[in-house]
Amino acid sequence: MAGSTDLPTQVSVVVIGGGVMGCSTLYHLAKTGISDVILLERNQLTSGTTWHSAAQVRALRSSKNLTDLIKYSVSLYSSLEQETGQSTGWINEGSLSIATNPDRLTFIKRQVSLAHLYGVEANSISVGEAKERWPLMNSDDVIGAVWSPGDGRVGPSDLCAALVKGAKAHGARIFEDTGVIAILTRGDKIVGLETSVGTIHCDAIAICTGLWSRENAMKAGVDIPIWPCEHFYLLTNPVEGISGNLPTLSDHDSHLYIRDDSGGLLIGCFEPSGKAINPEQIGENFAFQLLPEDWDHFEPMLNNALHRLPCLADAEVRMLLNGPESFTPDGSFLLGESAETRGLFLGCGMNSVGIATGGGAGMALAHCILNGHTPTDLHEVDPKRYPACFSSVEALTARVPEILGKHYAISFPGMQFQSARDLRKTPLHQRWVEHQAHFGQFYGWERPLYFGKQNEPVLTFDRPDWFEQVGAEVEIAHRHAAIFDQSTFGKIRVEGRDAESFLNRVCANDMTRSTGSAVYTAMLNQRGGFESDLIALRLNPDSYRLYVGTSAVKRDIAWLHRHLEPNQQVSINDETEAFSVLGLMGPDSAKIAHRLGATDLNDLAYFQHCPAEIGGVPVEAARLSYVGEAGWELTCAANQAVALFDALLNAGAKPAGIFAQTSMRIEKQFLAYGHDLDTDTNPFQAGLGFAIDWDSNFIGKQALLPLRDKKPKTRMVTIVLDDPQAMPLGNEPVYLDGSIIGQTTSAAFGYRIGKPVAIAQIETSPAQSLADLAVEVDIARNNFSGTISLTPAYDPKGQRMRSYLQV
Ligand SMILES: Cc1cc2nc3c(=O)[nH]c(=O)nc-3n(C[C@H](O)[C@H](O)[C@H](O)COP(=O)(O)OP(=O)(O)OC[C@H]3O[C@@H](n4cnc5c(N)ncnc54)[C@H](O)[C@@H]3O)c2cc1C
Repeated sequence: MAGSTDLPTQVSVVVIGGGVMGCSTLYHLAKTGISDVILLERNQLTSGTTWHSAAQVRALRSSKNLTDLIKYSVSLYSSLEQETGQSTGWINEGSLSIATNPDRLTFIKRQVSLAHLYGVEANSISVGEAKERWPLMNSDDVIGAVWSPGDGRVGPSDLCAALVKGAKAHGARIFEDTGVIAILTRGDKIVGLETSVGTIHCDAIAICTGLWSRENAMKAGVDIPIWPCEHFYLLTNPVEGISGNLPTLSDHDSHLYIRDDSGGLLIGCFEPSGKAINPEQIGENFAFQLLPEDWDHFEPMLNNALHRLPCLADAEVRMLLNGPESFTPDGSFLLGESAETRGLFLGCGMNSVGIATGGGAGMALAHCILNGHTPTDLHEVDPKRYPACFSSVEALTARVPEILGKHYAISFPGMQFQSARDLRKTPLHQRWVEHQAHFGQFYGWERPLYFGKQNEPVLTFDRPDWFEQVGAEVEIAHRHAAIFDQSTFGKIRVEGRDAESFLNRVCANDMTRSTGSAVYTAMLNQRGGFESDLIALRLNPDSYRLYVGTSAVKRDIAWLHRHLEPNQQVSINDETEAFSVLGLMGPDSAKIAHRLGATDLNDLAYFQHCPAEIGGVPVEAARLSYVGEAGWELTCAANQAVALFDALLNAGAKPAGIFAQTSMRIEKQFLAYGHDLDTDTNPFQAGLGFAIDWDSNFIGKQALLPLRDKKPKTRMVTIVLDDPQAMPLGNEPVYLDGSIIGQTTSAAFGYRIGKPVAIAQIETSPAQSLADLAVEVDIARNNFSGTISLTPAYDPKGQRMRSYLQV
């Protein structure tokens, strides 16, 4: 390693942290040709969490692009030795997942469907075959298993040694015993940092400092929600019956992972409630150290392990290893540029998948530093996805034990975290409590999922507990009038002399509309993909209010700021909390508005808005609908929301929740960002080419022009399933004649059509039209027949409706 005296004073990029994330990021930056990149480590390489990792690499994740990162890791880990001469310790013995209850079996079968979709080899196998693969396992209570031959494990320190060797071969330098003590910014930009031995000027910094990342990001004024938990595995001396390497055994019902280690056993756990630990207690000098054993805490897991592996009773314990690992409020890591500070990149908060993901994540972070965006859409790990409320010590220490505890939980539809709730409430919260709302948490906000059933729902992959309630709310919106609380949608005021020209550059639709117009538009990136989709109200010639997705507001504000030119007179302000939005939807809406004194509202045309007074409350009423029923979205001052709600309720409207809204939007084929739209999807694929103004010079236009008259490679469509009992959830493969041609992206039961309905992204073919094509959707390895439609499953114009009650 270079000595601290050689420390340069000026480089392009500084990577902070010498664990797997830092080493991988450094390697990929150097390999791409950035030779003046350096890594600073305040202790020694791997000395934080990386050295003691169990280092399993299991490929399957919740999305294709996250899975692809691990597939990339696997190929890197198995080929680095050839490139560098340094082994990574890669062992490819596969992994075996077992199920001991029907829900787990459904879940792991769903994962097999997902694996096929994402190009990962995985197959259901018999209990007998599972036992053959893990002879020491007690299989008495096992009812099914899945075999994934491509999985394996690596030697974490060897891996870092190989990455560092590769990086150095391309000119990168590494400085150990060199801690970063301050980060230097000018305005909102990184300009350098101070180390224990000197100052370095640079354009970009990658914070890859594991559990210390929160305090390091804070040095640049960036607040990120990361907090460590203790993580345990037991090691034994050699055990009879173990020779050579075995697959990793995943017994997630028992909260365990099990593998061989030097002829003995390594038994790790994600116990139901983890132990958070204050990073200050761990300290800065925690190098190659461990936390104290805690046998009382581990005992229930030990009992589970004794049940699964009776041979453990005779094994000699080598140690109960306890190491700290960082976790985040949603269980996913942070990868990308911070919202607040340009040039500050984050690759941290790895939630126990740092080794598996490290190869691909380092590649993606390097790509992001060099190109300003990740190689594929990675919105699930975008650091800009968190509201400020999750950064408090109180919220973090409440949430992370649950995140660790749910690492192996079955991802049931509708599952909600129990901890760190009530962080953000809409002004109507108390009203929703009185109406027996079941709440879900979105971007920290509590939002009603559905109303009226008092018991906690029993989660299932079958028809959910809330099926009838949601149906009743859809019925209200469809036949009478419903009130939807849309107050959590982000609201961004864009104002000033140049607001119009600025928005015509960052938005693809024509923003030169008269005051009183509402425009559906998209913010696209240079590649023509969606950064956001939104509704803009033109409030006056110099002022627009943008309504964006609930969790998009921080990201969208950062995007807007980054595209504002120095000479443009535009202010950009977050107004989310200042205003409430109530959707009044359904055939009785006009009657209700009339009853409440807003007689003229009925004359308002679609995509127009106007000031009005409803029940004495001043509102801005916009003729829009996210659910395919006639009505208005009513924006009022937050402190007037209760008065507006009470007036609407007294005039005959009734509350409806998010589940009803989602079902209705999917029937109406309205796409949702993060589900159906992302940074890799362009408007032609989304069927949203109509929202492009080709006369303006918007960002993304150059990428879209060559595609303008071509059939897109994929298209968003609707699929209506024939079997009313089918339970699509989104992310299911779609088959035509035995081959996968696409995947569902959102799904629900469509109460107005009486059938399950999905939005799906499907490959197009020059020879065949997608319209009316009969396909099959694989739900937990059962194929359900359905028909593709290019138009919405439900459209109020003309179609004859069936109520779910007739199913
Ligand atoms: C018991 C256990 C088992 C695990 N098993 C698995 C597994 O099977 N599979 C898997 O994928 N993952 C596993 N993990 C998780 C995985 O090990 C981690 O996600 C990964 O090692 C984190 O790497 P990192 O580079 O983010 O952080 P670290 O390895 O902690 O590296 C961060 C480095 O930053 C340095 N640093 C901090 N502040 C500064 C500063 N100001 N200046 C300079 N340097 C600084 C630290 O000294 C440290 O070396 C496990 C974790 C534990 C604890």
